[in-house]
Amino acid sequence: MYSANDIINYQPSKNHLNERVILITGAGDGIGKIVAIACAKAGATVILAGRTEAKLEAVYKLIVAAEYAEPRIFAIDLEGATNDDYITLAATIDEQFGRLDGLLHNAGILGQRTPLSNYSSELWNKVMQVNLTAQFQMTQCLMAVLEKSADASVIFTTSGVGKVGRAFWGAYAVSKFAIEGMVQTWASEVEDIGSVRINAINPGATRTNMRAQAFPAENPYDLAAVEDIIPAYLYLLGPDSQDINGQSIEAQIRTP
Ligand code: NDP
Repeated sequence: MYSANDIINYQPSKNHLNERVILITGAGDGIGKIVAIACAKAGATVILAGRTEAKLEAVYKLIVAAEYAEPRIFAIDLEGATNDDYITLAATIDEQFGRLDGLLHNAGILGQRTPLSNYSSELWNKVMQVNLTAQFQMTQCLMAVLEKSADASVIFTTSGVGKVGRAFWGAYAVSKFAIEGMVQTWASEVEDIGSVRINAINPGATRTNMRAQAFPAENPYDLAAVEDIIPAYLYLLGPDSQDINGQSIEAQIRTP
């Protein structure tokens, strides 16, 4: 068992993710993009999922240019996707790889920072769909192909505002609280019955478009770069975290 400090400073061995097939949502930008490239560098075949195909193609090109394993692209808008889309995704992965070793639910939206008393129901539903329901449905549909891996890691993305309630974070905060609950529930259901582990990761305050949208007056260069938080992702996606299940892991000391 690694300590929180060990995880933040984790140094994987070369080819740490060799032969692993890892699906990352929101892989076209922000944290998902840099994690996808880091996974490919560590030897994984990465399935780049996201809603803006041009961004996914740009990441694809970077990975191919670096001569890492050729990634795959799966364009999907989590707001409108249905179980049929996830069933197709599962069948495609099964046909091409016969298993899925890692699933990182990274895509998310901020919604609006406003009091709950003013929060629009339409936006509430959209945030809940993208940040919670889509992730539940995708995981459920991919479970059979995850179970075909000898050592599969499912990671959901949480936030500091999903642990302690804070004013004006609206549906975003509530969706992240729900993610924490879903991780605990699901992890306790899979504990001791197979090879799938389910955990949450909190990136902490990180220099991305979403963070700038949430804190427009903040100097982004006071924040961690995505590259700084990669060790925790590589730890959770690789063999050294095999015994970790149902945990909520911090990727850096400072959290939003
Ligand atoms: P960004 O906004 O930079 O990136 C979010 C990614 O999610 C983008 O690739 C975006 O695609 C994708 N996405 C958004 N909506 C959809 C959708 N409907 N369907 C498919 N993909 C979608 O955010 P971050 O990289 O900062 O955040 C990544 C995760 O980390 C999120 O879950 C966030 O809540 C969490 N987090 C981030 C923190 C931070 O400080 N940055 C702190 C705590 C948690 P597109 O590019 O096409 O819009």
